[in-house]
Amino acid sequence: MSWFKRESDSPAAPASGLSAEKSVRTEGLWIKCPGCRSVIWKAELEANLNVCPKCQHHFKLGARQRIDLLLEPGYELVDTTLCSTDPLTFTDLKPYTARLRKAQEQTGLNDAILSAVGKLGPHDVVVCAMEYSFIGGSMGSVVGETIARAVDRARESRKPLIVVAASGGARMMEGISSLMQMAKISTALAQLDDAKVPYICLLTDPTTGGVTASFAMLGDLNIAEPGALICFAGPRVIEQTIRQKLPEGFQRSEFLLEKGFLDAVVHRRELKNYLVRALEFLQPPARNQ
Ligand SMILES: [Zn+2]
Repeated sequence: MSWFKRESDSPAAPASGLSAEKSVRTEGLWIKCPGCRSVIWKAELEANLNVCPKCQHHFKLGARQRIDLLLEPGYELVDTTLCSTDPLTFTDLKPYTARLRKAQEQTGLNDAILSAVGKLGPHDVVVCAMEYSFIGGSMGSVVGETIARAVDRARESRKPLIVVAASGGARMMEGISSLMQMAKISTALAQLDDAKVPYICLLTDPTTGGVTASFAMLGDLNIAEPGALICFAGPRVIEQTIRQKLPEGFQRSEFLLEKGFLDAVVHRRELKNYLVRALEFLQPPARNQ
């Protein structure tokens, strides 16, 4: 059966009747894999955790999907009411407030992150997951504050913290108040470390800029999904700066694992089991409570 119709089969066909009906029904049901260029049925992709069944390319997951994947049903979302202000009354091609509003409408989230408490297998955990489709997963004051609160919550409750990073870096529209989130979260993570509560960071495609330069690389375990771009400055910027061709796979998970920047590259199918085992190993000692 052919899923595509050559244009010549129906020259000047009116945009009504059977052919129009067919095109409506099939639109959006298929997606092209950027890894192997296969056309995949979306339902098949979703049933496979949004991993290409042919080449194992890991498609991006939204924050809600990620939390659903990791936590048992019945988890609780927390800090959902934080909202970004516009401290610089910033405008580029359009006002920052308009960008925020549009992103909120499109994603149903207040900002580029969700925070939750719940169970991952048998373990009580605190989880934050970033949302790349919200202004490129950029870290402004709300993302920073949400993560800092999650770190404090993990320390106070002695529950391990898991952060899933997916970010284009700091949110430039918030200027210095976005950059200061790096220091704020890093300070909170140092306190978490002093309290001997484990922190695992999962780096997903892409994790870049100020996020890589702060909390995404500060885990007791820093693990990544296959093929994820993980960097501070991206390969295009580096090539333009040093005027040299970069090696194959530069700044991808597997390359970084080989160079010692990561502890493991974990397939999405194996992720939950991996985290359950890691948390068994890393459980905070009860005597320090
Ligand atoms: Zn593929």
